[in-house]
Amino acid sequence: MGRTTFDFEGETVIVTGGSSGIGREIALAFGRAGATVLNADIHATSKDAGAETPTHEAIEDEGGTAEFVETDVSDPDALAAVVKRAEEFGGVDVMVNNAGVFMRDGMLDVSIDDFEFIHDVNTKGVFCGCQAAGRAMKARGEGGVIINTASISSTHAQKEQVPYDSTKGAIRMITRGAALEFAEHDVRVNAVAPGHIATEFGAGAERKEESVAAGELTKPIPLDRPGYPEDIAPAVLFLASEQAGYVTGETMYVDGGWQIF
Ligand code: NAD
Repeated sequence: MGRTTFDFEGETVIVTGGSSGIGREIALAFGRAGATVLNADIHATSKDAGAETPTHEAIEDEGGTAEFVETDVSDPDALAAVVKRAEEFGGVDVMVNNAGVFMRDGMLDVSIDDFEFIHDVNTKGVFCGCQAAGRAMKARGEGGVIINTASISSTHAQKEQVPYDSTKGAIRMITRGAALEFAEHDVRVNAVAPGHIATEFGAGAERKEESVAAGELTKPIPLDRPGYPEDIAPAVLFLASEQAGYVTGETMYVDGGWQIF
C-alpha cells in the first residue's frame, strides 16, 4: 500500500477537544505536518494513559508550534475567542470541531438537564465552532476548511443512546448545511464519522478492546478490531488538504466497515 504525507506548513489549525483521544491525535498529526496548532479544550491535561505531556507541549517537543487555549465549546464566546486568537498566527485555516461527551441513558429515563448538557457540548459546540470559523474565514476572504467529528451514531441508532445519537445526527446536518452556505466563500465543510475507537471516551479504551474481542458489540466490526485515534487523524488531514478540494458536505465513515450492513 502506498503512503501519503501532508504538508500544512504555514497554516493555522484549531482542534477542539485536542487534549485527549481522537482530538489529541489529530492535533499531533497537524503539528507533524507543519501547522500551528491551537488546542481548544476544557482541560489542559490528557486523560489518556501514557500521555503525561499536554498536547501543545508534545507538539513543541517534536519541533512544532502549538498553544493551549482553555475553551468550553458549549460557550459561543469562548469559541469566538479561540478563533480570534488564531489571528495572531495569520487566521484560522482549518477548524476541527471535535470535542464531545458521551452518555448512556434510556429515552424514558434521561433527565432534561442531561439531554440539554450533551446537546450544549456536542451540538451547540459544533454549530458555534462552524459559525465562528465561518465568519472569520468569510471576513479574511482566503477560504478555509472545517471538519466536524460526527459518528456512526449520526445515522445508526443504538440502545440507550438517543441523547448522544441525536447530537451526532445533528452534526451531520450542520455539516451539510454549513457546506451549502459556506461554499460561496470557498470554505469546505466535511465530517469524519468514527466507529468504535479505543479512547477513554464512553466505555474506555480497554473495555472497548475487550468488547470487540468478546463479540459483545451489537454488530461485528468487519475489520475485526477496534479503531484507534491513529485511524481517524489521517482522514481528517485528507479532508483538510487540497487533495480533497472537491469534497464538501460529506461525512466520511472511518469505522472498520461497521456501518456497511
Ligand atoms: P475523549 O473523551 O478521549 O476526548 C474528548 C476531549 O474533549 C477531551 O480532551 C475533553 O477534555 C474534551 N472536552 C469535553 N468536553 C469539552 C468541552 N465542553 N469543551 C472543550 N473540550 C471538551 O473522547 P474521544 O473518543 O477522543 O472523542 C472525540 C470525539 O469523537 C467526540 O466528538 C466523540 O463523540 C467522537 N467519537 C468518538 C468515538 C469513540 O468510540 N471514541 C466514536 C465516534 C465518535
